Amino acid sequence: MRWKGRRGSRNIEDRRGRRMGLVGGGGLGVVAIVVIGALFGVDLTPLLQGGSAGLAPPTSSAPVTEADEQAAEFVSVTLADTEEVWQGIFARQLDTRYRPATLVLFKGVTQSPCGGASGATGPFYCPADNKIYLDTQFFTTMRDRLGAGGDFAAAYVVAHEVAHHVQHELGILGEANRLRRAVSERESNAISVRIELQADCFSGIWARLADQKFNSLEPGDIEEAMNAARQIGDDTLQRSAGRVPRPHTFTHGTSEQRQRWFATGYQSGDIRECDTFSARTL
Ligand SMILES: [Zn+2]
Repeated sequence: MRWKGRRGSRNIEDRRGRRMGLVGGGGLGVVAIVVIGALFGVDLTPLLQGGSAGLAPPTSSAPVTEADEQAAEFVSVTLADTEEVWQGIFARQLDTRYRPATLVLFKGVTQSPCGGASGATGPFYCPADNKIYLDTQFFTTMRDRLGAGGDFAAAYVVAHEVAHHVQHELGILGEANRLRRAVSERESNAISVRIELQADCFSGIWARLADQKFNSLEPGDIEEAMNAARQIGDDTLQRSAGRVPRPHTFTHGTSEQRQRWFATGYQSGDIRECDTFSARTL
């Protein structure tokens, strides 16, 4: 992805290098992950249940490195790209104004109204404060643990969390969550899958329109995003953890579904093509 020298977003809240009043430790880390799993993050619980595949416990005082700074700059430009693209879509396709999300950069652990956040667990969106929580260390986890390396894989993850904010702005997230509270766990998971696949579709729209605006895509970028979508599919994550995939426990969709919905958004660039809630087949 071409991003150097481009404008970064102002909507970044940098909490790195700050000690939060949260005691670290493996147990708490796992609790935080379970909470976050329900909150539009990249759900890594299958990996954590895999024993030896467990991720490193979070630390709250890790220094901010040069690599962190690079990653933060990259995230800031990517976030700015999403703001321009979604402002355009809201104005043209929806006749309303887009209010951007704030992205919280943290390192180790931090707190959110949606619960504690731990860097090893993956980024998530919290609708209660309209904020995306991201430890850029997760990009390393993606590359080393999930086989999802590449800068555009990272951009896809940022775009996916922004997509949850877009869903929140459109009232989709609130409605879906109300529904989820009223049904069985199995049905709630099925609704979650529709939310997540729509976020993947929105991410595809973003990839297309950002490229049109900024000429940002390089050869191999879309493949990086598609590979990431495959690696974080529920069936693949469960299989990586040495388990037989159990579809009724899926909350994000299979690898094939996640790739296909990203591709649908990318190929169409049209928000109406992303109606996973009316789709007969996902
Ligand atoms: Zn999500």
